[in-house]
Amino acid sequence: MTPRAGTTTEIKGMTLEELEAFARGLGEPGYRGRQIAHWAYQRSVPSFAEMSDLPAALRPRLEAVAHLTSVVPVTDVRADNGETIKYLFRLADGATVETVFMRYEDGRRSVCISTQVGCGMGCTFCATGLAGLTRNLTAGEIVDQVVQVHRLTGERMTNVVFMGMGEPLANYTATLKAVRLLNAPYGLGIGMRHLTVSTVGLVPQILNLADEKLQLTLAVSLHAPTDQLRSELVPINRRWPIAELLGACRAYATTTGRRISFEYVLMEGVNDRPELGVKLGELLAERPAGGADAPRSRREEGSLWHVNLIPWNPVYGLQYRRPGMQRVEAFAAPLRRQGISTTVRVERGVEIDAACGQLRRTHAVGIRVTPSST
Ligand code: SF4
Repeated sequence: MTPRAGTTTEIKGMTLEELEAFARGLGEPGYRGRQIAHWAYQRSVPSFAEMSDLPAALRPRLEAVAHLTSVVPVTDVRADNGETIKYLFRLADGATVETVFMRYEDGRRSVCISTQVGCGMGCTFCATGLAGLTRNLTAGEIVDQVVQVHRLTGERMTNVVFMGMGEPLANYTATLKAVRLLNAPYGLGIGMRHLTVSTVGLVPQILNLADEKLQLTLAVSLHAPTDQLRSELVPINRRWPIAELLGACRAYATTTGRRISFEYVLMEGVNDRPELGVKLGELLAERPAGGADAPRSRREEGSLWHVNLIPWNPVYGLQYRRPGMQRVEAFAAPLRRQGISTTVRVERGVEIDAACGQLRRTHAVGIRVTPSST
């Protein structure tokens, strides 16, 4: 089954105001919009027929002019005793994306969602970037991944991370709309602080997002402390080098009052050398050159940032190696000495290619599900 395309209205992705206007356009009172939002976002029903508080005559009319489902599950694979599930979803045009659900012992239910089919950023260590960008997802396709995972698991999501396939800020408008819908009380009602948007470092969009003054977490993929190395690993660095990126991150942290999370994928012998850890510590502890917003001490500057170290996850066809924990800890030590909050991220779902940087529609293109080589 494939979601219905183009000619009918996509309900998922509509704000309350848009749904109310849509209802009025059908000659119905505006409050029907709120009823539809409730069923679509909170009750995750798959058809208008199940919207039992709508007039019986209205339901088939809605079925004729609108579609409720934007992504349809095709397959799933499980890891961590079923606590991690990777879903493959099909979109209206037949394209597919992956979404990962993670259940944690502390009660958190987290879903990692995609914002694009493929990705055009070309990071050298990432599975998604290998095939390039096909297209942006609509806000409905982004939000519906969360709704469908709720429907499939029967669990309410507590956290959403925009870290699946694609660069979220390259699909800025749809990503921002999805953030608001996930947070809205009539939508999914997930606290803004429980939403994380990642970016590889699109400076203008980071500054735009700062102006929104949202309390979401921004995760910036850094991966190298020097421009030479970062440009090799993350080509967009040639457009917005590290100094510019950090300037935007400072502006974001200052405007929103939220700490930036820097993601750093460690690849053995490439970007995990101890001297690069020292360099990264110096870089993040550096004081900005003056200005009213300049933090007063190196330690305060460090408190604007959090560093997440992620030992590289194997990607079929790529030759990088995952460093052992000793090398990871040696890299982390100078950061901690600089007073920079640093964690090593324990990845879930590595053996089903569901971890960071591994998503690439493996089911769809027939690439085998690679077991972890580490
Ligand atoms: S790491 Fe992120 S931005 Fe880079 S290619 Fe992969 S999905 Fe795109």
